[in-house]
Amino acid sequence: MTSARFLPSKKIGPFHPPQRTLMGPGPSDVPPRVLAAMSLPTIGYLDPVFVEMMDELKSLLRYAFQTDNALTFPASGPGSVGMEMAFVNMVEPGDKVIVCRNGVFGGRMIENVERCGGIAIVVEDSWGTPVDPQKVEDAFRKNPDAKVLAFVHAETSTGCASDVPALTAIARQFGALSIVDAVTSLAGIPVLVDEWQVDAIYSGSQKCLSCTPGLSPVSFSQRVIENLKARNKKCQSWFMDLDLVLGYWGNTNRTYHHTAPINSLFALHESLLMVREEGLDESWARHRRHYEAFKAGLEAMGLEYLVEEKYRLPQLNAIKVPEGVDEAAVRRTLLSEFNLEIGAGLGPLAGKIWRFGLMGHSSQSKNVMLCLSALGSVLMDMGYPVKVGVAEAAAHQKYADLHAAEARRRLTAAA
Ligand SMILES: *Cc1c(COP(=O)(O)O)cnc(C)c1O
Repeated sequence: MTSARFLPSKKIGPFHPPQRTLMGPGPSDVPPRVLAAMSLPTIGYLDPVFVEMMDELKSLLRYAFQTDNALTFPASGPGSVGMEMAFVNMVEPGDKVIVCRNGVFGGRMIENVERCGGIAIVVEDSWGTPVDPQKVEDAFRKNPDAKVLAFVHAETSTGCASDVPALTAIARQFGALSIVDAVTSLAGIPVLVDEWQVDAIYSGSQKCLSCTPGLSPVSFSQRVIENLKARNKKCQSWFMDLDLVLGYWGNTNRTYHHTAPINSLFALHESLLMVREEGLDESWARHRRHYEAFKAGLEAMGLEYLVEEKYRLPQLNAIKVPEGVDEAAVRRTLLSEFNLEIGAGLGPLAGKIWRFGLMGHSSQSKNVMLCLSALGSVLMDMGYPVKVGVAEAAAHQKYADLHAAEARRRLTAAA
């Protein structure tokens, strides 16, 4: 009997994940509606019903990205695939690319440029500060032949936002294309692709869209398409070659490229529908509102942010670990005692910060209050001097103030 040879030694039963509250750097909590959509019957990737849904997906994504770009679709793969798709199609061997690094993800962009055979001109800013437009302009002055500018809108490793329109304007001034990472920004803070004249942008399904992980919404401008046609060499990636992918996601004669992740696309359709139902303005306002309450609570507890207030991402709160507190033990206890997941610091920030995500469906008062209460309880247990209840009271007060201000605003608007 050979079939017995590779039998797992452990008895394996069905897997049932625990019910967690996800307040890390992604994935965020997935709403039941989206999970339900994912469990609907699988159909063929060329089924006319499915093809119709693909068109709806593209138009919902154009809304989310605020763009008319025809080339807007969900790439099959996580945010990293969207990132790589932009670089492999837009960077040829020998091309100069100005890449901004102020956190982990800018570093990955450099890695992508180099693997495409490009020359990365790196603009460095310290972790927790935004990309400095002056440094980018200086880099272009020294390298006027640079073909592409690449940077991260919302650095998830630090919780810092950079100024997209200021940076894309510099790229245009020097005739370069722009690649923008909007994995954590999309639906959490404004992302205005056409107004900001972004050339290539990619996001992820599992952050502020609150879909299951594994899909990467992307959008490319007409200038990128023209640039593709002028390439000297074929794109080195078969899977991510936009020319080939378009045979399936383009508008006519859809043909097989790879089997689309059908059920994941059902889920994305549902989560984008939720964004459209709520409206982008309200989605951005909601992320801000819960951040304000969360911040009030954290500060009442005596905790501090890594990033200066005006550059902060409402959907990712990077908080300094107080002196003498065991950073990892806090995360472990939050998970085991409260089923609450938060994130650790990466790279130079490892052990120095916690990252609290308030992304998409996770951005709600229930989570803000749970997290403040759980964190206060764990910190007090560890001997950190925090008064029980102060954080919750401060957050409640902030919510009350915001509601009152909103009611006044409505009254004035109606008058
Ligand atoms: C999460 C993230 C990515 C990578 O996305 P994956 O889905 O993990 O591949 C890229 N950039 C930023 C800014 C992110 O936050």
